[in-house]
Amino acid sequence: MSQGTPRIDFRANAQRVPPGMPSAVQRATAKFLENRAALVDALGPEAWQALRQAGHEIRLHAITYLDHYLEQAERAVIAAGGQVHWATDAAAACEIVLEIARRHGAKRVVKSKSMATEEIGLNHALEAAGIRVVETDLGEYIVQLKGVGPAHIVVPAFHLSTAEIAALFREKLGVEAPPEPERLTEIARAKLREEFLAADLGISGGNFLVAETGTIVTVTNEGNGRMCTTIPPVHVAVVGIDKVVPDWESLSVLLKLLARSATGQKLSCYTQFISGPPRRPEETGPREVHLVLVDNGRSQILRSPETRKTLLCIRCGACLNICPVYNSVGGYTYGYPISGPTGVLFATQILGTSAARGLPFASTLCGACNDICPVKIPITEILLHLRHRVVEGDAVAQSVAPFPLGLAAKAGAASLGTTWLYRLGAWALRLLQVPFVRDGWMAHLPPPLHRWTMARPFPAFAADFRRWWRRRAGR
Ligand code: SF4
Repeated sequence: MSQGTPRIDFRANAQRVPPGMPSAVQRATAKFLENRAALVDALGPEAWQALRQAGHEIRLHAITYLDHYLEQAERAVIAAGGQVHWATDAAAACEIVLEIARRHGAKRVVKSKSMATEEIGLNHALEAAGIRVVETDLGEYIVQLKGVGPAHIVVPAFHLSTAEIAALFREKLGVEAPPEPERLTEIARAKLREEFLAADLGISGGNFLVAETGTIVTVTNEGNGRMCTTIPPVHVAVVGIDKVVPDWESLSVLLKLLARSATGQKLSCYTQFISGPPRRPEETGPREVHLVLVDNGRSQILRSPETRKTLLCIRCGACLNICPVYNSVGGYTYGYPISGPTGVLFATQILGTSAARGLPFASTLCGACNDICPVKIPITEILLHLRHRVVEGDAVAQSVAPFPLGLAAKAGAASLGTTWLYRLGAWALRLLQVPFVRDGWMAHLPPPLHRWTMARPFPAFAADFRRWWRRRAGR
């Protein structure tokens, strides 16, 4: 976890959300949720809950015995003719990929969508080394042309209209581009075909890694993933160590959960299984397959009993789709490639609380994410622990809350837990509020409470609750 990482200011980012963003996000997420709900209904609530429970247990088992399954996966990948590399952090992972690229004299790279490569900043590292990188997932291709990151972990450009994409294609590709989805897809396909054929290296992520056979599994709805992993002479898969699953039976459960939760499909269009390079001369495919296993803070997450269930995540994006905060501010506000509730969990732990101290508070704690998560991650419970880590510190990190905030939190806890202090505070507040109250509301308050009244009035503090209750009982 890097101490030099710039701080993410969620509050300031939220104030810069373009006016059209929330409605565009809400339209898209509503569609995903509708499709998902129809499939869950078709399966039946009991069967769905049983599937979720099975998914939870499989993922929990996998991360509990992570060392065992990772070593098993490593042996199986090597036995299948692949090469395995271990990266402790983002810089090490980028260096491994760069070294492979250098060894092959690679100048052009095609990439399929991968949150792990976004997390480690691989594109920047490759470009800094003079290597041209082209994203080939349509959504990623669009956001790359726009010069921004993904706005959603499953559908990176879903907030952009066809008119905006057409204008972008005209500007960046210099082509006639009408605002018609089919035509825009044709333009992208024609451009990307050239890239696939010219690429020296293909890079992918991995949705899962099956330990028993060392199989890298990628799940997509576009054929670009297969092009990236089969046409260039060398394939590099960058995969987080948390993606390992014990066997094919476990995988079948998780695939059912992933497609239904992500896009409301029974199965995604392309589920690809990669078990090493071709073994016979008549087989086609890359001559070399490299698996880069990235830790980048995951071992630290695993060590913390309060937060380790973060690693159960299968990156389906359902918690983003249901989250009222994500739906109001969109993905960029989180300042991290993985956004929404799961992004908050990962960013706060991978970047550290110094950089991401505001993120655990970017939640209403409504619990909708807990209910929708296909692997039953207790997201709000982990968020609460991360808030505790920010304010009071824990075994992983020291408190990073500004001194007045920590003091206010301690004073609040003491006064709520001590009867006489609570009564004294209630009495003092009623007196202090008098200059600000008009008709039972306070329209303007001094700092730091002015942040609340900038957006909405604050109700006047009511009479002492006990006194109010006694009066009510008397009536
Ligand atoms: S936390 Fe759960 S709902 Fe959110 S992306 Fe991960 S698996 Fe999906």
